Amino acid sequence: MSTTAKAGAGDGHVWLVGGGPGDPGYITVAGLAALRRADVVLYDRLSPPELLDECPPEAVRIDVGKAVGRQAMTQDQINAALVEHGRAGKRVVRLKGGDPFVFGRGGEEAEALIEAGIAVTEIPGITSAIGGLAAAGIPITHRGIAASFAVVTGHEAPTRSEQATDWQHLATAVDTLVVLMGVGNLDAIAAALIEGGRARSTPCALVHAATTPQQRVVAATLEHIAQAARDEGVEAPALFVVGEVVRLRSRLAAAGRGTLAGKRVLITRTRQQASSLAEALRSESALPVLLPAIEILRRADPSAVDAAVQALRSGAYGWVVFTSENAVEVTFELLRDRDADARLFAGARLCAIGPATADALLARGLRADLVPAEATGEGALAALLAAGAGGTQVLLPRAEGARMVLPDGLRAAGSTVDELTLYLAAPPASPPEGALDRIRRGEIDIVTFTSSSTVRNLVAVLGRDIEALRGALIACIGPSTADAAREAGFVPDVVAAEYTIAGLVAALRAAVNMREQA
Ligand code: SAH
Repeated sequence: MSTTAKAGAGDGHVWLVGGGPGDPGYITVAGLAALRRADVVLYDRLSPPELLDECPPEAVRIDVGKAVGRQAMTQDQINAALVEHGRAGKRVVRLKGGDPFVFGRGGEEAEALIEAGIAVTEIPGITSAIGGLAAAGIPITHRGIAASFAVVTGHEAPTRSEQATDWQHLATAVDTLVVLMGVGNLDAIAAALIEGGRARSTPCALVHAATTPQQRVVAATLEHIAQAARDEGVEAPALFVVGEVVRLRSRLAAAGRGTLAGKRVLITRTRQQASSLAEALRSESALPVLLPAIEILRRADPSAVDAAVQALRSGAYGWVVFTSENAVEVTFELLRDRDADARLFAGARLCAIGPATADALLARGLRADLVPAEATGEGALAALLAAGAGGTQVLLPRAEGARMVLPDGLRAAGSTVDELTLYLAAPPASPPEGALDRIRRGEIDIVTFTSSSTVRNLVAVLGRDIEALRGALIACIGPSTADAAREAGFVPDVVAAEYTIAGLVAALRAAVNMREQA
């Protein structure tokens, strides 16, 4: 291809991406890479909503579940939209739940694109039929118990005259039968399977919203499963599984997956920072619920920044103290805007409060001279004074409304402190409704606070709904955060000994262990 070729018609490409059964961590590496480069994303009800945050901020997001007014787009309209964006030369991701080719109409979309001459790539996903069952502790095959399986749509009611599915034949043809889209037809399906020769006593289960924080399992025999589903109010999306493997659930479900397995954990830090904690929790089989209680609003006064840059250039500062990852990030943004870089700090000693802050500096090529053992204002003050910061000129870039312990203490020791206000940690303008609903329904097991501003802002975001969190285990990353939690009327059950994400998760494990043994 010539190097002067312009993007445009002919360059468009559509990726049909399987988003997995629900947990955003179950997308493939290839699927995630496609999302991160997308110009346009078309998604629907079953694709994990959190994955939309992985697209570039400027990407166009189209909900095909209700894109035209409140009305869902028809399949023809979806095909046409894919073709249109592909023709316009865009990188288009069609994000689907599970695998695109398992009752996902991915094949039809691929055909429409090929017919229109637009490049299309399918990136497989974990289908709910297998991965969703696994999340409920049900292996689809098991040595000695099930050596075959079938995945069937339950959308076609067995009573219809020209039925598409031969239920009676299927009844005994395979060991494990997984029915998708079957909740509405359970009576008829169960009856047809029994009529086809499957034992009434065959163990069955319904797994609703597998791998998400709403996951719920209802089990009964084939004879009673439809009634059990009605009694328990099981709704779509749900998997209906029939077969002896369901018995393994009691052994494989939560057991052995760790203390935090299945716990719904509220994460209140910013969206950008939530992922490290969410990933640590997911690897413990916990279910993270994201409600970013703070948004970082830029608040720097340009002339104050100019003055600080000037002073850095002239080597005036003995110390620069970074109090958080956010402070590092916003500082470097401001330097970039002024065509300056890390060399500005060459003459100063650097203090990073907390290991994550030190890592943020390291990522920008700067090794902190001092990382106070205790990541609090008091701990930092003591460490800075011991390191000889008293009497020097100190630059303190930080948040509006931050605690005064550090600047007051340094001034008392004869230092000149330039506080540079960079940002305000404010409550979000539009908090995610899904997370709010979960909180209101009292579904949260554990609340995590990773800074005092997350506590104060969560209170502001929730208003009276904060009461729904009173029964949850309250976990704080350190003592200042715990103080803020107490001020907000919480009783911190967990205060991490090491003020890091790993420290917080370890403390949580220990606390949940103790609670459950009590
Ligand atoms: N392509 C998807 C299936 C789409 S059909 C896949 O591979 O998983 C939609 C049906 O899938 C739903 O009616 C339900 O039966 C099932 N399903 C999808 N996600 C589910 C989930 N997280 N929990 C339970 N069932 C799910």
